[in-house]
Amino acid sequence: MKRSRPLKRKTKRPEPKRSEPEAVDPRSIDDDAVVQGILTAISQKRLKPGAKLGEDKLAAAFGTTRIHIRQALSHLASRKVVMQIPNRGAFVYRPTWEEAQDIFAARRIIETATVAAAIDRLDKSGKAELKAHMELEARHDRNDRWASLSLTAEFHILVAKLAGNQVLLDMSRELMLRTSLAIATFEQPGEPDCSPDAHPDIGALILARDKAGAIHAMRHHIEEMEQRIRPREGEDEVDELTAIFQEIGARARAGG
Ligand SMILES: [Zn+2]
Repeated sequence: MKRSRPLKRKTKRPEPKRSEPEAVDPRSIDDDAVVQGILTAISQKRLKPGAKLGEDKLAAAFGTTRIHIRQALSHLASRKVVMQIPNRGAFVYRPTWEEAQDIFAARRIIETATVAAAIDRLDKSGKAELKAHMELEARHDRNDRWASLSLTAEFHILVAKLAGNQVLLDMSRELMLRTSLAIATFEQPGEPDCSPDAHPDIGALILARDKAGAIHAMRHHIEEMEQRIRPREGEDEVDELTAIFQEIGARARAGG
């Protein structure tokens, strides 16, 4: 329903340079439904690194315009979650092995800092929030893989939130996301996700205000995650090719 506009006073307001229809205010782009939808699918590993993000399909799926989709994708590209290749389109970002290692190294630094700051600032409401989250993790069905992945990521984001520093919180959110991409790219098949004991241990140490213990447990937890990934590209590709052609060659020889 359109409402008639009230008459405006002629004050000089800075007008946006380009008025793009259906474009999202850049200040609220992180809350945008398309951005959130893609981020959720990536953090739950439903969208894999390298997956094509077709503008038309996304526009149809989200019931929006291609302009809106393009804006969301270029925002995600600026956050290294999406890569845009000229003439080919947008894809879910595929980190290199070096980047994957850097992501975990950054997490070790940032999350040992956030866990310490969370303990310094821990108050009644923070304690309640942490306890509520720990209960949620304890109660939930581990077979529900998608819910499980979101919930375990939320634990790390909650610790950053309790640290009370918006910049650290933003960085943690970004690192969690990039971790999902690193793990999805380099994890060994069949490896378990976040070890089930890690969060209750870290949570209990935060509640007990055991700073040294919590820092140690957090670092150990991140190191354990990092051990799940192995370099794959390059050597493995060659190995795969070797295996394929050895097999073909063997068959050719056997067949005469
Ligand atoms: Zn964890």
